Amino acid sequence: MVTAQHKGATLQSAWREIRKQFTDAGIDTPTLDARLLVQSVLGLTHEELLMRPHQPLTPEQESTLASYTARRLKHEPVSRILGKRGFWKSFFKVTPATLDPRPDSETLIEAALKHVDKNKPLTILDLGTGTGCLLLSLLQELPQATGIGVDISAEAIDVAKENAESLGLTDRASFMSIDWNELQATPFDIVISNPPYIALAEEENLAPEVRDYDPATALFGGADGLDCYRDIVRLLPRVLKLDGLLFLEIGATQAKDVKGITGQAGLTMLHTIADLAGHDRCLVARYTPRPEIE
Ligand code: GLN
Repeated sequence: MVTAQHKGATLQSAWREIRKQFTDAGIDTPTLDARLLVQSVLGLTHEELLMRPHQPLTPEQESTLASYTARRLKHEPVSRILGKRGFWKSFFKVTPATLDPRPDSETLIEAALKHVDKNKPLTILDLGTGTGCLLLSLLQELPQATGIGVDISAEAIDVAKENAESLGLTDRASFMSIDWNELQATPFDIVISNPPYIALAEEENLAPEVRDYDPATALFGGADGLDCYRDIVRLLPRVLKLDGLLFLEIGATQAKDVKGITGQAGLTMLHTIADLAGHDRCLVARYTPRPEIE
């Protein structure tokens, strides 16, 4: 039935038909998602799409669009269907090995830019880098900075390296596949991380877009979701300079618990920053251990 309706489809009729299917299926943003798929298959900008509503689709375009639509109806995110996601000011390659970058995580970039001097040759460590979106976006904004992104997934590191290459940042960004607990490094000026922080019991409450498509290793932070914060705090004396800054993404209800963990480790809390939905999303802390703690 879907194929029959798409026969002889124009841009506009295809967009409308797909939008209707997405609406009927309860997809959150049916108009946007349908548009992005149509645009991508035809290689058009949003403006071009609006200018040519009656352009017919070729049979190949119809068939690619039908397969993309079927994938989205199974709740695969548009970013995964297209293999890329816009984050901060650039597009990042996304694969099944990486977390799909979220707009919420841009809060960390905003926070970092508020706290650092753009013209200093700062060093940055990104723990659990995934696509590399946090480190690479920061390096784009801080022209003198350099950084390392680490991830336990070697496949994710390959993706991060590709992203560094396409953004022209290979001279300032390097990537390493390693369990962060094993990390030995000259301490950095900045540590930034969006670690896995969902409690295992929350799995059944996750949207299928997340549960079925983001890698579990990038989502779950143990029974209470806080395991990675405990790891990171243990790791800090080895990787963060005295007076260095820590930017941590946290889950919507975790501010109090994570502050408890960081407070015991010689970190002075500077700010908690909310995402657009109003949830505390980023903790900013300075590493100020007292001698006896260190
Ligand atoms: N922010 C993601 C979500 O809520 C989770 C990713 C993470 O655990 N860092 O789906």
